[in-house]
Amino acid sequence: MAQCEVCGNDYDGAFEVTSAGTTHVFDSFECAIHALAPVCEHCGVKVIGHGVQAGGSFFCCAHCARMAGNEGAQDRV
Ligand SMILES: [Zn+2]
Ligand SMILES: [Zn+2]
Repeated sequence: MAQCEVCGNDYDGAFEVTSAGTTHVFDSFECAIHALAPVCEHCGVKVIGHGVQAGGSFFCCAHCARMAGNEGAQDRV
């Protein structure tokens, strides 16, 4: 069937994810997250939840955004 573009697994349950106009094929959410999830610019953690965007950068939480100098950043409620 389709081959996961992250780990190369050939799996009949593979699924496609379209991100920014590009279609990717993955066999698991773990691989999809590995390939697509943004990385917090402060601590380097994969941002799987909503995250915080501040000053054109992406952070895992408001704490990291503030640590990186975005004073007014707040977690979304
Ligand atoms: Zn995979
Ligand atoms: Zn962070």
